[in-house]
Amino acid sequence: MRKKISILGSTGSIGRQALEVVERLGDRFEIISLTAGGNIDLLNEQIAKFKPKSVCVSANSDKIIGCKHILSGMSGLEEICSNTENDIILVAVSGQIGLKPTITAIKNHINVALANKETLVMAGDIVMKLAKENGVKIIPVDSEHCAIHQCIKDISQVSKLIITASGGPFLNKTIDDIKSAPVEDALAHPRWNMGKKITVDSATLMNKGLEVIEAHHLFGMPYENIEVVIHPQSIVHSAIEYIDGSVIAQLGLPSMHIPIQYAICYPERFEGIKSKSFSFSDIARLDFSSPDYERFGFLNLAYSAGKTGGSAPAAMNVADEEAVFAFLDGKINLFEIYQITEKIYSSHIPIKNPSIDEIFEVDKEIREKTKELINRGCECLSI
Ligand code: NDP
Ligand code: MG
Repeated sequence: MRKKISILGSTGSIGRQALEVVERLGDRFEIISLTAGGNIDLLNEQIAKFKPKSVCVSANSDKIIGCKHILSGMSGLEEICSNTENDIILVAVSGQIGLKPTITAIKNHINVALANKETLVMAGDIVMKLAKENGVKIIPVDSEHCAIHQCIKDISQVSKLIITASGGPFLNKTIDDIKSAPVEDALAHPRWNMGKKITVDSATLMNKGLEVIEAHHLFGMPYENIEVVIHPQSIVHSAIEYIDGSVIAQLGLPSMHIPIQYAICYPERFEGIKSKSFSFSDIARLDFSSPDYERFGFLNLAYSAGKTGGSAPAAMNVADEEAVFAFLDGKINLFEIYQITEKIYSSHIPIKNPSIDEIFEVDKEIREKTKELINRGCECLSI
């Protein structure tokens, strides 16, 4: 039987690769819905190829060709996620936009392949509780979490999660190099080809911080038992340690096709887009080291936000998001992303056990505050 899937964010880096997987797997999948932000040309190409029953775009457009059921905005995303014809929904939009549709899918008992890490960073407690109550599987797409998911047999016997980080393009650079880095350098990730926001977050190691919070929620692991290890070759995608000290790691050549394919096919596994065969003897060496928490302050900040809980991770996440946009617009330098986020985050008084509405209020308020700080020229920062 064909597995019915909708892809939120089909025009993005994850979405495009997901469609390559679907195409390779031929008859195994049927596309129910696709969604895009503003890239209508690419969406039209996808409609012609995959013939979705409905599509959604961020704002109404009369340029969509080949699909009669056209939706828009958040209500459109939620309508797609309410369609119980779906066996699984891949949430691959970027930013806070992923949270509400994920919740809608869960409430409609539809399994979710989750790429959008912001969903768990903002509201991990609520989302995981809802998933449990509704018997819904949240299958991670992020390569580190996919690796951990593949290693775990019984979570109650796992004592530690070990999340690897390539270290990004500034791994061996000084703070001065980081301050003067042009946008192109921050976007030139040595291992992964991703959307701009996550690529910049990888350069500051914020991405790894978000992944620590994501791992905490996905696997219910205390922060004290989640370790980040720098591994520049990105061959070991992550590992777990069992209570008896045994370590199980998942290895492979870096490719997002594999975790996407794993997540949307789960619990089955197909050859599909097969990774190039792995040879230990071709890999000359594998390096591991501890992260430099001083140069990459985001890691500490994320652990602190995660341990604080409540609305703290959401506040940190949105401040970073706005600061990343300002960096991409040439308004601030790369190091200021951290300084601005830290400043805004420390002024936030976290709400304990926030509702979804409260999380969105925090998101709105912090977004405004961050923009205001950036527009004031960040004169308050001592750089
Ligand atoms: P991209 O920026 O490449 O793609 C984002 C997608 O979201 C696009 O389809 C875009 O549409 C759509 N989108 C953006 N804004 C809106 C909006 N307001 N309304 C509706 N749709 C919108 O991001 P990535 O694919 O890199 O990342 C997606 C998510 O997956 C992120 O949360 C990221 O952290 C996570 N992730 C990504 C990885 C990667 O390798 N790329 C790895 C692990 C996790 P359009 O382009 O048409 O405007
Ligand atoms: Mg990752």
